[in-house]
Amino acid sequence: MDYRGRLLRARNALEQSRLDALLITHPANIRYLCGFSGSAGVLALGGAAPVLFTDGRYTEQARGEVRGARIKIAKGKSALLAAAEWLAAQCRRGRLAIESAHMTVADRAVLGKAIPRSLRLKDAPPLIERLRMIKDADEVAQIRAACRLGVKLFSQLRQAVRPGTAEAEIAGKLEFAARRAGAEHMSFPTIIASGPRSALPHGRASAARVPARGFVVCDFGVILAGYCSDMTRTLHVGRPQAGARRLYEAVHDAQQAAIEAVKPGSTVGEVDLAARKLLHKHGLGKFFTHSTGHGLGLEIHEAPRVAAGQKELLQAGMVITVEPGAYVPGKGGVRIEDTVVVTDSGCEVLTPCSKELITL
Ligand code: ZN
Ligand code: ZN
Repeated sequence: MDYRGRLLRARNALEQSRLDALLITHPANIRYLCGFSGSAGVLALGGAAPVLFTDGRYTEQARGEVRGARIKIAKGKSALLAAAEWLAAQCRRGRLAIESAHMTVADRAVLGKAIPRSLRLKDAPPLIERLRMIKDADEVAQIRAACRLGVKLFSQLRQAVRPGTAEAEIAGKLEFAARRAGAEHMSFPTIIASGPRSALPHGRASAARVPARGFVVCDFGVILAGYCSDMTRTLHVGRPQAGARRLYEAVHDAQQAAIEAVKPGSTVGEVDLAARKLLHKHGLGKFFTHSTGHGLGLEIHEAPRVAAGQKELLQAGMVITVEPGAYVPGKGGVRIEDTVVVTDSGCEVLTPCSKELITL
């Protein structure tokens, strides 16, 4: 991973925003910039060179992981306080930016007391998040590997879905197989939502048992070497009735239309619209209650948001999900999701796996 290049771009972004220093407290941003994956660290940008502050529990880990930044171990005080005091000594005056979405109110108060009045605290714009939006080749390779594992696990998952089996048991089998295959973790709590529960867009696997007939929404992802995968397939147990088939085909068409709309220069809002239009045409517009997708990478949800009216332009190297759905309360729902990477001419699906209706 090109940590030095990333740190350099972060430094340039800081200057362009007329900020003198940045205290990075968001773990995913820290990992992106210098490789540190511990849960307690603060990366100080500004001054002569970037410095990662952490505590004694992470000395060895930091030495093994961190590239492009110096390491300082805070003693007798928090990493945040040590980082703030160090930055204050480096840049005595100016604008010190903080990631306020990733700092507690209490920490901010401590910080306010620790730095001199000549240094003004500012809320940082999402500088690092914007850099992270465009994945480099190493990152795309990691996400591709995670997605490939996801696809492999799905074929095993299919076999675990049986009428009478608890959703949690199906999720458990999937997660065990994921760990055995080298996943660090799941990207998020696995969604196995069967029968009427398939109408819950975020129906986490519960004690409910798969009914004899109905949809089963399976939405899951694995984390491999820090990078997330995300995919959804909806299965049907028992013979689907005509209405269920129509619902499935409508979502399938909408998802295909949205994938075809992914190309550099289009806005993310246009991708959302492509899916929404199709579902409206089938009279299902009001049952599509969430946005079409999201960026993913070190985090399962990152920029850009693929939602109605969003103006962000797609660029080669962005990795987004395309996941329209339709959820009919009391009856059932369908979602189909792929992860795609934007290429120079369109996109490549990173989760290639049949989307024909599977009946079990
Ligand atoms: Zn998903
Ligand atoms: Zn998703």
